[in-house]
Amino acid sequence: MKHIRKVLIANRGEIALRIQRTCRELGIATVAVYSEADRDAPHVREADEAVLIGPAPASESYLQGVRLIEAALGTGADALHPGYGFLSENAGFAERCIEAGLIFIGPSPTSIRGMGSKSAARQLMVREGVPVVPGYDGSDQSVETLQEEALKIGFPLLIKASAGGGGKGMRIVREPAQLKGSLEAARREAKGAFGDDSLLLERYIDCPRHVEFQILGDMHGTLLHLFERECSIQRRHQKILEETPSPALTPELRARMADAALKAGRAIGYYGAGTVEFILDPEGRFYFLEVNTRLQVEHPVTEAVTGLDLVRLQLQVAEGQKLSLSQAELKQRGHAVEARVYAEDPEHGFLPSTGRLVDWHLPPLPGVRVDSGVETGSEVGIHYDPMLAKIIAWGDNRLESHRRLARALERLSVMGVKTNRDFLLRTIRHPAYLEGALHTHFIQAHLSQEEDAHHPERDAQAMAACVVTLHLERKQRTQAGDGSGPGLTLLPGWRNNRFRDPLVALRIGDAALEVSYRAVTRELFRVMAGFAFMEVRLVQADLPELRLEINGTQRTFRVQRERDILHVWSALGMVSVTVLPDFPEASRVQDPGDTLSPMPGRVLKLRVKPGDTVRRGQPLVTLEAMKMEHTLEAPFDAVVEKVHVQEGQQVNAGEQLLHLCEQNA
Ligand code: ADP
Repeated sequence: MKHIRKVLIANRGEIALRIQRTCRELGIATVAVYSEADRDAPHVREADEAVLIGPAPASESYLQGVRLIEAALGTGADALHPGYGFLSENAGFAERCIEAGLIFIGPSPTSIRGMGSKSAARQLMVREGVPVVPGYDGSDQSVETLQEEALKIGFPLLIKASAGGGGKGMRIVREPAQLKGSLEAARREAKGAFGDDSLLLERYIDCPRHVEFQILGDMHGTLLHLFERECSIQRRHQKILEETPSPALTPELRARMADAALKAGRAIGYYGAGTVEFILDPEGRFYFLEVNTRLQVEHPVTEAVTGLDLVRLQLQVAEGQKLSLSQAELKQRGHAVEARVYAEDPEHGFLPSTGRLVDWHLPPLPGVRVDSGVETGSEVGIHYDPMLAKIIAWGDNRLESHRRLARALERLSVMGVKTNRDFLLRTIRHPAYLEGALHTHFIQAHLSQEEDAHHPERDAQAMAACVVTLHLERKQRTQAGDGSGPGLTLLPGWRNNRFRDPLVALRIGDAALEVSYRAVTRELFRVMAGFAFMEVRLVQADLPELRLEINGTQRTFRVQRERDILHVWSALGMVSVTVLPDFPEASRVQDPGDTLSPMPGRVLKLRVKPGDTVRRGQPLVTLEAMKMEHTLEAPFDAVVEKVHVQEGQQVNAGEQLLHLCEQNA
């Protein structure tokens, strides 16, 4: 038996951190690897040592097998953990690790290779008596044979690239007329993407569930299953919510599927942790899809209900230890669910969202585990998977785990990039989801893509939190006495007028609004936002957190600034509020005749006096700020009703300069 003393983790982000955590617990030293883009990443800082392996693109760093092995040998690591993704299912890489004298923490290269071709895997499963979707996986790949076989299978039909993976290279054919064209296109695609144009035909199962089994084996012939995970909630074949136990399995069906999973594992001499994937049709028939020969993203839900640490078990197996568990003692305790939080924009086709995280905060909560690779300040770039974190919630039953998950998602403050946080919340609150009526097209069937942006209470309260924040910021600046003069202590968009309550112009989405407020005492504010009147009491300020009592209800708010945007989180949801530097536009909504100063400055020249008639575009007043002149023009034909300022006077941004009375021609 070998002993592992130091592990190189050939991965990044949350999975690298996850593996490090167990290594630390076991007293095993860790070596991280990083690309130039990840120099300051948490997974690098947390490791005992870390090796730079190349530029940002994964193809030049995390996928450079030779460099990874060199880094392991150079730091004296005796084992390599591939994580998932990247090179984790690359049999050649596993072989090279072993040849270099490293322990590869995963199954044997032969097992990995055995599952590399979907057709070969299917043929093997048929021989072992594991059910596969009715279809064709033969070696005769002539168009005539494929067409003939397709007609036998019937429609709808799914064409898969035998060498495919990650949901790529699949095509649905709904009717015979599409068949020939689809076969040709699929072949071209497969050749281009995988360098292999072998195709596989399967009956397309409508609205199936995705149910997979965790398996675990050692090198001494023990192979166990650690129950199922249901991963039916997918978007573009990407899992976003995973749970265990599956609401669809009876004990009897679970036993049959587990049996099939173990058969599949035995057929390829499996050791280490792996996953056997099935689809389950609405009639309760299940079919083998594939074996993933690595740890899965969603492994924490299995850990939550079995109480096991899968990485610990992987390390023990890799050292050649015998598993000390028996199938009979494994139990599913309670229910667990995982949500994947992605940096993506649900309101714009789920495109990846990039930027700097100005806030990432989730307090510890009972029954909740967070596996994340980011922190406040992290840059979310274009080079890697946009998954920011996984939130895993456990409970006595499905309702309790989901309640805990919903609460954790609500409490998560993530600012600076768009995320699917609210989309996840909407999904798990959907009545069909609550009933457990899941299938792989659930999202298309039940959830519209656009978030309902209209949420008046959330928005009004966010504005109140902004007003208090701006007020505190201003006070801080005034007290700091930075010598910049009274004019500059005022924030853009701020109007301080003796005759009126201060006003601030804010924008949420497309809606611009003037919010007026009065600081009655140091703690008490009266805030008017549109038609909402709020009595706001500042209970506690522990920036970026504010505890506010708004009309008698206390809530915590987190407010973080990103230039002129204030991101506000509260239990009501998250919203980004822009502080408008430019007053006239916002105020026109209220009174089109008000002419307000767009900036702090000095009145250089008044070009009109009360009673003057002006034409649209005629100069009204010239201001001077930072040695630049700026002339305001009449927005329409009007009579000058009032002039509020004098030449030479200092004015603030948003201060009223004059008032016009519109003249209709
Ligand atoms: P990949 O290796 O590319 O991930 P899989 O064969 O594992 O491909 O299938 C990925 C997903 O595609 C499954 O989770 C399921 O949602 C869907 N799928 C695969 N085969 C079928 C089928 N025969 N009928 C319906 N859906 C399928």
